[in-house]
Amino acid sequence: MKVAVLRETAPGERRVSLVPEAVTKLRAADLEVLVESGAGGGAWLSDDAFTEAGASIATRGEIQQTADAIVMVGRPDDEAIAGFRQGQAVLGMLAPLGDPSFARRLAEAGVTSVSLDLIPRTLPRAQQMDALSSQANIAGYKAAVLAADTFGRFFPLLITAAGTARPAKVLVLGTGVAGLQAIGTARRLGAVVSAYDVRPETKTEVESLGATFIELTSVGSASGEGGYARALTEEERQAQQDELAGHIARHDVVITTAQVPGRRPPLLVTGHALKAMAPGSVIVDMGASALGGNVAGSQAGETVVTENGVTIVGAANLASTMPAAASAMYARNMSSLLLYLVKDGALAVDLSDDLQRGVVITHEGRVVHPALADPVGGPADVDGASH
Ligand code: NAD
Repeated sequence: MKVAVLRETAPGERRVSLVPEAVTKLRAADLEVLVESGAGGGAWLSDDAFTEAGASIATRGEIQQTADAIVMVGRPDDEAIAGFRQGQAVLGMLAPLGDPSFARRLAEAGVTSVSLDLIPRTLPRAQQMDALSSQANIAGYKAAVLAADTFGRFFPLLITAAGTARPAKVLVLGTGVAGLQAIGTARRLGAVVSAYDVRPETKTEVESLGATFIELTSVGSASGEGGYARALTEEERQAQQDELAGHIARHDVVITTAQVPGRRPPLLVTGHALKAMAPGSVIVDMGASALGGNVAGSQAGETVVTENGVTIVGAANLASTMPAAASAMYARNMSSLLLYLVKDGALAVDLSDDLQRGVVITHEGRVVHPALADPVGGPADVDGASH
């Protein structure tokens, strides 16, 4: 079986889906590995490093013609989809939910598509394939480092002959994987950290990292299914924004990481809250997206400064800004999933398996994922097994 790494083409994407260490692991399992020339360049991985690990360097055309499985970090672009062969597999963080037309295009291309961002995270055997967590850990770390770099004062308490600097007060909003890593990193840099989440069960994790958990009196628990948050009602949202504004104004740095599956990120820091912040304050908005983020006025991929001197960093795709670490972790997730899916030298799709049912989006010309019912090809046969 031939597994092939495509060079990522999304703007600013520097990660690569396999690193040489993962190539060695796949070779040991008798898989051939092709790597598109230059695929590792953004993560400082040369073609030679891949060949030394047992891969062959190939052109995109050769890969499209011969690969059985194409592995990627993000989505294939239009050109890549046009070059796919029927029966080929494509694996990546495809983010298909909320975009049924993308899944239909993959089905029409006849590819078996597998999305790493849909790994059922609570299955113990899926832990090592959990790309959302590995990349969120990196992004959370980088958000705290970026905040420290942007802030015009110290994070730690510093006593010098030229004066004493008080430690920075950092507030982390949203304490999932990224938020907890941001808390740990800000603490290691010496900041005094507080945090808030609509899932009160995160309190013990926050406190175990040495931060203070903020409890709002106006909003109760919004724990949803599967460890995620549910969307707030309009009244809850308003009450949350109003009460949070007072806390935000008392902090020098705010890092926002709040997400609700399948929805645009909730707005936590309003324009009103921004106005109450002191000049020189910094916000890193990890929820920043084209649809808007956790912070009013944040722009994905851009840094804006408000009239009252608050710097808002619209931090989109932070994992890609640490491409060596992010690629190494992602490659471990990807190679674990590949080795799980391959039986006797071929990809063995078995939709009766709960892990596979979570990640396989299209197979044999149909959209088969339970969350993306196929209106064209008839009802998805999610219980059937096929090879
Ligand atoms: P996420 O990226 O979906 O969201 C980030 C955080 O934002 C969450 O903690 C969420 O509660 C919070 N949030 C959403 N709306 C909010 C609002 N209005 N105000 C404040 N906070 C808000 O979360 P994630 O990092 O992907 O983690 C989701 C869950 O998955 C967590 O419970 C995590 O522990 C769990 N998880 C479990 C495993 C495992 O079992 N092995 C692995 C990874 C993650």
